[in-house]
Amino acid sequence: MTTLLLLLLLALPAQAASDATSFVRWSSRQDLPAEHPARAEGYDFAAGLYQRLAAVAEAWPGRVSVERLGKSVDRRPIWAFTVRDPSVEVRRRVLVYAQLHALEWIGAEVAVALVEQLAPNPPPGVEVVIVPLANPDGRFYTEQDLLDGRVRSYRRANANGVDLNRDFAVHRENDNLWSKLPLTRRYYYASPAPLSQPETQAIDALAATGFDVTISLHAYGGYIYVPWAGRWTRTADHAEMMALGEVMAAGQPNRPYRVMQLCRWIFFFRALGTELDHMYATYGSNSYLIELTRSGIRPLRPRTWRDYFRWYNPVDPTPHVEDGVGALMALVRHLSAEEAGLVSAGD
Ligand SMILES: [Zn+2]
Repeated sequence: MTTLLLLLLLALPAQAASDATSFVRWSSRQDLPAEHPARAEGYDFAAGLYQRLAAVAEAWPGRVSVERLGKSVDRRPIWAFTVRDPSVEVRRRVLVYAQLHALEWIGAEVAVALVEQLAPNPPPGVEVVIVPLANPDGRFYTEQDLLDGRVRSYRRANANGVDLNRDFAVHRENDNLWSKLPLTRRYYYASPAPLSQPETQAIDALAATGFDVTISLHAYGGYIYVPWAGRWTRTADHAEMMALGEVMAAGQPNRPYRVMQLCRWIFFFRALGTELDHMYATYGSNSYLIELTRSGIRPLRPRTWRDYFRWYNPVDPTPHVEDGVGALMALVRHLSAEEAGLVSAGD
């Protein structure tokens, strides 16, 4: 029995180390395009993002661990990066996951920059788990579009054509008036079945391990959204989630985002089957969906009328990455200070 226990104890760190090692090896085999398309200047391709993550994992082996959560429809691995200060007991856990939507590259940029900023100086007592590319197949297809000059290809879904942001298990239906009217019923859709895709299953299984806060990164809009997305009513923890949302907004150096309940964005809007409602209702996490950037559809300079990549990914990502990372760092620092008794929950 003692021998078995000893073997188990020995196996745990070895497992973590081997995942990091296999990730570093895997990332070195990912092909970077020979020519980086000028349109994507300032943005890394997935292979480049993975190389940056491998560099961080190698530089901080005790603080950054790597786990393969599962595989996408096309068998691409979905990776998670955990950052923590190993000398301090973990009391709070934060999950940041990005790019459920194929074209929203800015979310992955923010997620990778967050790993890079956290690793040298992880706030004590808080463990942050980051999934930079939750829809690697969708991401791959958008990269091929850019390389082949297909500017007018609009992609949002995974390889099965499912919108992963509508594939979760909570608030999948709503039969209010707006869901029946011709002009507004288009918003009232969910995937064919809850958690029907390997990507959402991987995120859900990770979320089930228990997080105080979960944050899904999207674009565009400049909003920090709280639940519900699929119901007009307030949640029981609305005030607490709004307050923590304001902590994030206050940490944004350029243009702080607005904090609000998602479905109240406009009166007829509901988003059904979202990760936002799922994480709060199913796991009790304080749940957020951040719409990064204020890029969007512009008829004039820069004209982005049908330039879908630009809807989500502004020409210079730097200030938007700063605002995204600023919000997330502010949250993590706040939770760390709260644990140390430096601030109270209401501050
Ligand atoms: Zn999105």
